[in-house]
Amino acid sequence: MASHHHHPESEIALRVKAIESLLVEKGIVDPATLDTIIETYEHKVGPHIGAQIVAKAWVDPDFKARLLDDGTGAIAELGLTGFSSEHMVVVENTPEVHNLIVCTLCSCYPWAILGLPPTWYKSFAYRSRVVIEPRKVLQEFGLEIPEHVEVRVWDSNADLRYLVLPERPAETAGMSEADLASLITRNAMIGTAKVPAPTSLNPPVAQEISP
Ligand code: FE
Repeated sequence: MASHHHHPESEIALRVKAIESLLVEKGIVDPATLDTIIETYEHKVGPHIGAQIVAKAWVDPDFKARLLDDGTGAIAELGLTGFSSEHMVVVENTPEVHNLIVCTLCSCYPWAILGLPPTWYKSFAYRSRVVIEPRKVLQEFGLEIPEHVEVRVWDSNADLRYLVLPERPAETAGMSEADLASLITRNAMIGTAKVPAPTSLNPPVAQEISP
């Protein structure tokens, strides 16, 4: 595989490789364990886990109450936490409040339930600007937050990770938990998007225009 690289590896990638081989050589980490962790984050852990949590909260008011009261405990009930040990705090979007998550210091992110963070989340521009001018940053994501809605920015850290519980679109009455989960995007759980209404993706046959 390595002989087929068309581009030189980035400095970061080379440094990571150097550290990894040193740790393995010294017997500090087991390469099989490392492979399991990488495999998990590349293929098993992703926004679909967060989406299951949000969809459950939308259909089960008792679970939602527990989730907002004790995110770590409620998520553990679902057996979806993997090897994460951080505390999870879930913040709810409402018609009056829009929540947005960031890590101003580095790139703390709810990895265990959203997988790998997007590049922009780790960028200095996002981390610095979102605190100073959150509405403007959201506009750049295509999200216009009306003046009467309060924007709350939550700064994650090594011990505490936030997850946004987005608003359930009004057009989703009667949808199954699994179908609801399929609507919920990563950005909606970071707070840089809303959950799209299903009609925009699957127009019902009844709305087709007759000739
Ligand atoms: Fe961080």
